[in-house]
Amino acid sequence: MHSPQFSLEVFPPKRNAPVGTIYDTLDGLEGLNPDFISVTYGHGTHSDRSATARIANTVRSEYGIPTVAHLTALYSDHEVVDQALEMFDAAGVFGVLALRGDVIEGQQEVGEFEHASDLVAYIRDRRPNLKIFGACYPEGHIECPSLDEDIRNLKIKVDAGATNLISQLFYDNEDFLRFVEKTRAAGIDVPIEAGIMPVTSAVSVRNMARKNATVIPKALNAMLEKWGDDRESLRRAGIIYASQQISDLVAQGVDGVHLYTMNHPGTTRRIWRNVAPLFREV
Ligand code: FAD
Repeated sequence: MHSPQFSLEVFPPKRNAPVGTIYDTLDGLEGLNPDFISVTYGHGTHSDRSATARIANTVRSEYGIPTVAHLTALYSDHEVVDQALEMFDAAGVFGVLALRGDVIEGQQEVGEFEHASDLVAYIRDRRPNLKIFGACYPEGHIECPSLDEDIRNLKIKVDAGATNLISQLFYDNEDFLRFVEKTRAAGIDVPIEAGIMPVTSAVSVRNMARKNATVIPKALNAMLEKWGDDRESLRRAGIIYASQQISDLVAQGVDGVHLYTMNHPGTTRRIWRNVAPLFREV
């Protein structure tokens, strides 16, 4: 029987947040038993570069869940990447999500890694047995002139050694399914997990959609219009919307679903309660 992967993303608490907040998140996710949890990486030269490895280690050693560590390349040199990989080894991660990272205005790029594919090739050379995840964009990456060109660039990333892909958020499953079809036609045959971000606030949906050129379908727009100022109702509607997206994707034979938890375990649990029977026998 087809059994899709189910994974979650968490991010390290902000520098000045109490240390315990990540435990609140992870305690709240306990019992969901995802296939893995991925931990994001603070981008830019001023971020705490050891936070990802620390949280990944906590997830694996204290909660017994396999972990993937994110790593960005644009503002890192080879030495920083080597140090990160050593920290990830010590944390026992089974995979790295190798990213370019966003361009930060006013910050000088290091120039050793131009694209994520450069980082993938570097990691593949140094850690031949590690799983290497890459990001992909069902509606095309915002900087790329066309989806077809973005998929050609994605092929370079996979040929460099990426073994798995996780998608950017999207709100219309048709966009994701069309994208998967195009990637398969382009000769990309690694598993692609669908990234799902539950709607929790109208402002953040609109901001994310603007930043990533994500289309907001009519049904979602109606929700934002109706409950934009009523956070709790919007959260409830968002749980239903995400659950329906996931159920449809599973029915369409998706390789996996990656839920962006935004460190909100309550919302994540409610969605999982709705969709869990579609993933495993319960
Ligand atoms: P790339 O794959 O390098 O693509 C970036 C652009 O360059 C695209 O337009 C692409 O078409 C083009 N391109 C790629 N290769 C080539 C090539 N060889 N020649 C010419 N053009 C090329 N950001 C963080 O800071 N921390 C995180 O933890 C984080 N986690 C993420 C997780 C997921 C699942 C996703 C989808 C995104 C995440 N991001 C994170 C955001 C990510 O860093 C940005 O989306 C960034 O703008 C692109 O990163 P990338 O790895 O996809 O870049």
